[in-house]
Amino acid sequence: MISVSVVTLGCKVNQAESTAIIAALNEKTGYHASEGLSTADVYVLNTCSVTAEADRKSRQYLSKMRKLNDKCRIIVIGCSSQNNAEHFAKNNVTAIGGSENKVDFVIDNIKEISESILHDRILFNDYSEKNSENCEKFSKNTQKTRKFVKIQDGCNRFCTYCIIPYLRGRSKSVPINDIVAECERTDSDEIVLTGIDMSDYGKDIGSTLSELLSKLSHIQARKRISSLECEVIDEDMLSIMREGNYCPHFHLSLQSGDDGVLKSMNRHYDTNYFYSKVELIRQFFPNAGITTDIIVGFPTETDEKFENSCKFIEKCAFSDIHVFPYSARTGTLASKKYKTLPKTVVEERVNKLLEIKHALHKAFIESNLGKAYTVYTEDAHDGLTEGYTQNYIKVYCSGAPCGKMIDMRLTKPYKDGAYAQIIDVADNNHN
Ligand code: SF4
Repeated sequence: MISVSVVTLGCKVNQAESTAIIAALNEKTGYHASEGLSTADVYVLNTCSVTAEADRKSRQYLSKMRKLNDKCRIIVIGCSSQNNAEHFAKNNVTAIGGSENKVDFVIDNIKEISESILHDRILFNDYSEKNSENCEKFSKNTQKTRKFVKIQDGCNRFCTYCIIPYLRGRSKSVPINDIVAECERTDSDEIVLTGIDMSDYGKDIGSTLSELLSKLSHIQARKRISSLECEVIDEDMLSIMREGNYCPHFHLSLQSGDDGVLKSMNRHYDTNYFYSKVELIRQFFPNAGITTDIIVGFPTETDEKFENSCKFIEKCAFSDIHVFPYSARTGTLASKKYKTLPKTVVEERVNKLLEIKHALHKAFIESNLGKAYTVYTEDAHDGLTEGYTQNYIKVYCSGAPCGKMIDMRLTKPYKDGAYAQIIDVADNNHN
């Protein structure tokens, strides 16, 4: 049996692709594949290149893997190897793939190296004991219970700061029937629909995201949409979501709260338009979790524009914010056109925005205390079970089993979320 450890960096699309790789390998005889870094014969590193930091993290994993097994074979795939193949080639990994056809690429290459692995194993069977204690230190095999389903890949938007359209190509939709079949096959209680730009879903196959969501409404599992561009939000889609057991959690990438900066980012909306979508969501889902991404320190962001951005972000009252310092990506229009801001200025603004993030997140948690939600328990640490509510509040609870949908009432703020108590059947009045 050849053991394969799949390590996933970056977005939920990468996670969906890694899940497909693991499933494909485990369907074949002779392989045992799992997610997470642990001692193995072969490592599959599914990389990310959205920022310079993501590239650096991808590279760092090579040494972590070799520390666990210095005789291992490493297959690298994803955006960072697509973008910087030569770096990985220099570090003599076994095979270097890109963003396309990841499952086939991995399967084809593992078949090829299997003989040499089995041969090596006969020679070096002593090392397995030596490395076992290491695996504890590195491996974090979380009990993944959510099912990630990739519905779309690629992007046609070419935001001036983003490298992804150059690495993942043009927007491509997965046919509706394939998605419905994959969702009907899963026994998971929560399905997460993922894509690079899901707002573009269907445009290349004569369909729409709303049509897909309505075709999935009969699926019993609760469904979460990983991220959306604000343009796709409309009354029709929100009604389908309300009837179809979709989670009231909207990750709407704003990127900046200043119209001038949005223009220089080639984002296709202004703050008034964006805010009208936030309001529409709250009409349909008053307790919706609305999260966002913000790039801080984009080259055209003056002090005044940054202040505008902060004010607008506070007006939107997001439930949480992913804060990214601007990272110039070689090959993007912004990296060619603009000079980056001084590091100290960017750091100062990141700290200011993190303060706003924490204040808004705290306010959202407090506004949900006393309310009851169905939590999908996924993990357990230090005697507490962890999971997420429908509106994406991280919940901690003692005495709850993992991998279950459990009704709970939020009682107090705790760590990055809230502490909750299991609601016994008698007290089951949801808000
Ligand atoms: S929408 Fe913009 S930020 Fe998102 S992947 Fe496409 S180009 Fe990148």
